This record gives sequence, C-alpha cells and structure tokens, in this order.
Amino acid sequence: MPEPSPHARMMAILHAPLVTQMVVAVAELGIADLLADGPQPVEALAAKADARPDALHRILRALAGAGVVAQPAPGVYGPTPVLDTLRTDTPGSLHAWARLWGLPERQAAITELVRSVRDERPPFEQIHGRGWWAHLDERPEQAAVFRDAMGDLSRELHARALAAYDFSGVHRICDVGGGTGDLVAALLRSYPGLTAVVFDQPAVVEHAAAVLERAGVADRATVAGGDFFEAVPAGADAYLLSMILHDWTDEQAVTVLANVRRVILHSGRLFVVDAVIPEDDRPHDGKLRDIIMLALHPGRERTEREFAAVFERAGFRLAGTHAVSGSTGLLVAVPV
Ligand code: SAH
Repeated sequence: MPEPSPHARMMAILHAPLVTQMVVAVAELGIADLLADGPQPVEALAAKADARPDALHRILRALAGAGVVAQPAPGVYGPTPVLDTLRTDTPGSLHAWARLWGLPERQAAITELVRSVRDERPPFEQIHGRGWWAHLDERPEQAAVFRDAMGDLSRELHARALAAYDFSGVHRICDVGGGTGDLVAALLRSYPGLTAVVFDQPAVVEHAAAVLERAGVADRATVAGGDFFEAVPAGADAYLLSMILHDWTDEQAVTVLANVRRVILHSGRLFVVDAVIPEDDRPHDGKLRDIIMLALHPGRERTEREFAAVFERAGFRLAGTHAVSGSTGLLVAVPV
C-alpha cells in the first residue's frame, strides 16, 4: 500500500476526535459488556442498549473501520481485544476512563486548548471559573467517575510501575494523593510485612476504607484526610506520589515535596509515579497526557532532568529512574 498523502493524513488527524466520541458513546451504552459473549445483529444489540438501531449501526460501522469492533457480517457486530478493554469486569478496565473523556466540562477545556497559549490560567479555569478539583467538589457524580477511572488505572498501570522496585525493606509507606487506596491495596497484597497510610482530600479518602477492606488489607492500612500543600502524615519511611506532581507547577510541586521532606526519615525513600518524557522527538503517550495537563491543570509532564531539578529544590536527590512500559515511569529519590 502506498503511503497516505499528507492531505489524507491530516484528514485522519482531524477526524480522530470522532473516534474518541464514538468510544465514549459505546462506553456509556455498555456495548462491550453486551458483546462479551460474541457477535450480535445490531437490532438485538440496540434493543438491549435502549438505542436507535440506525444510529448505533452507523457508530459501530465507523468503529469497525477503526478496528475497535468486529463486523463478521453486514449489520452484525462483535468484540475485539480493543473493545474488551471497555468491559467492566476486566482487570485494568478503561470503561471509567472512557466515561471520564465524556464529561462535557473536561471536553470543553480540551476543545479550547488554544486559550492556553494566550492566558496562563488553564483553559478549564478560564471557561468554568474554577479549577478541576473545585469542580469535582461540587459535582459528586463526576467526582465518582474520576475516582473510578483513577482507581482502575492505579490497580493496573500504576501498580505495574511499582513492580520495578523491591519494597521488601520498607516498613511503612504513605501514599500522598492516594485517591481511594487502590495502589496501597495492591502494594500491601504483594508485601505482607508492609503497613500504609492513604492520604488524600477528605471527600476522596472517605471512599478508601471500603477498598482496603475489600482487598483484605484494612488491618495494615490507615486513612488520613487533608491538604498536601499544608502537611502530609509523618512517620513513614517511604512516601509515594502517583500521578500527583504532573497536576502542579514546579513551585507547587516543590511545596508538596518540601512537606514530605519535613517528615520523612533520613533513611527514607521518595517514590514518584508519573510519565517521564523523553528529551527527543520519539512518540510518547506522556507528551499527549501533557496536553491534558495544559488544558485542565496548572501542571505539566516532566523529563527526568526536570524531575531532578524539582527534587533538588525540595531537598531530595534523584537516585534512579525506572522507565516502565505504557510510558509511565517510577522515579526514586533520597533526602539530602
Ligand atoms: N495517586 C492516585 C490518584 C491520582 S489523581 C493514582 O495514582 O491513581 C490526583 C489525586 O490528588 C486525587 O485523588 C486528588 O483528590 C488528590 N489531590 C488533589 N489536590 C489535593 C490536595 N490539595 N491535597 C491532597 N490531595 C489532593
């Protein structure tokens, strides 16, 4: 096949957001769960999803063209391994993540990305008059979608990043901005001698007890609510920040890390899970996640050098970087 022309490539780029929107629609309708047992005629599928058959057919036909669903016969649609990632019963499910992409206020900020080059405030704040976290505070149903999406990523992607390190020498770990405790639950299950504290905003962390209970590790974990710009819990020899620093400017990141530095044991370790952006021009999902940061948050994704500089300002030295598949890395730093 000849290379597509520049014109055709640009058309494909401009139309790519339509694929996102179709995936959001399919996630909202629960199509991946409905197709779990195999292909179905679109009419039967539409009846189960409470959808108009014609609209559903056109969406699934386009998604079949994009390789997301299978079309074994005209008008009959079936699952693919890619569609299966949207099943709710699959480990590392991206169902909640797809629903997060559907939140209209979040989409508006990304759609109006050009605002970011004119005004320093994140487009999200320019448009909605408040930041993402304040927004979630006032929209509990959207906060639940966000918690579910991050919980799913934690259990799979972020837990995999931690597999790059042997935590058997660690006694007590504090997960700063630990959400609903999914990452701590995964860690405690792998390390029976480890204890932990999950620290996050009070309205978020109140959901952690149930997660820790369900994972059978509640006897080794406590939960603490607060603001990491004020202080973080003392008494741990390891502090973990997973998908935290990228939300914030260098100044803000230094404030959070300095709060960790104040309470960490001298022999302690700081663990940061985030995208680690390569300096060169290779394709990297972190470079796209950085654009989510640009639209929603004051923060940014960082290169290893940028992390090292932020650590140094907060009294830490970068001791090692473990690049992990899926463009999420684990950085380890020590207090100086
Ligand atoms: N560590 C989790 C969640 C990352 S999302 C994971 O890897 O999946 C970022 C988290 O930072 C959210 O749970 C959010 O509630 C928390 N957060 C944001 N501002 C905070 C603050 N000021 N104090 C404490 N936690 C905060």
